[in-house]
Amino acid sequence: MSSRKFFVGGNWKMNGNKAAIDTIIERLNSNKNESVETVCAPPQCYLEYTRSKLDAAVFVSAQNCYKVEKGAFTGDISPAMLKDLGVTHVILGHSERRHVFGETDELIAEKCAHALENGLTVIACIGEKLEEREAGQTEAVNVRQLTAIKKAISDWSKVVIAYEPVWAIGTGKTASPDQAQEVHQQLRAWMAAEVSKEVADSIRIIYGGSVSGGNCKDLAKKPDIDGFLVGGASLKPEFVEIINARN
Ligand code: PEP
Repeated sequence: MSSRKFFVGGNWKMNGNKAAIDTIIERLNSNKNESVETVCAPPQCYLEYTRSKLDAAVFVSAQNCYKVEKGAFTGDISPAMLKDLGVTHVILGHSERRHVFGETDELIAEKCAHALENGLTVIACIGEKLEEREAGQTEAVNVRQLTAIKKAISDWSKVVIAYEPVWAIGTGKTASPDQAQEVHQQLRAWMAAEVSKEVADSIRIIYGGSVSGGNCKDLAKKPDIDGFLVGGASLKPEFVEIINARN
């Protein structure tokens, strides 16, 4: 296995209330696993609440943020505000931001650059749609999305790449361990060729798309899968099994 620290993020999306969050936090606080970088991404109105109750060893992530520090951007939040709340990570480019809210590769890249400049760790999501996979465009789509980010940033040390095939998100259809490994290996090779071998060897490439307690162990055995971004299952008790997938 590589020396890359296993990374597991829970994306709660637009779910939960304080009572539900208390239950999730109780489970996380009683599962200490220092070998895993564990991150929770609550809805933005619960960021501070979650941070105040979670064990300090578990990081809190936002699900999105904007590309500038402040100003007339109604409804949005900035990395500076997130840092002020003790938030250390942000998910950017999630497929729901791309495909429900119409965010472009360029906007996502600008957001990544601004979040990194402000010291946040960026969980940068990329992934192909079903029709793109069926048309043999999987690698081209992922490389296009990554290339936009590469043009906007120079330091990859606080980037975690989340490969999340759109057809596997929230559908119950997981990429098989071999399918996921194939793409992760392509992405790492791309990083080696286009950024540097050092970055390719050290960057975490995590998988997302219907990860569950049942499939996490087989996925976690693959050499280029360095963890998971988990949606639905991050709200359930099985999230603890996913955190411990390599134990
Ligand atoms: C996600 O939202 O990033 C995700 C992977 O969702 P799910 O695990 O529900 O497919």
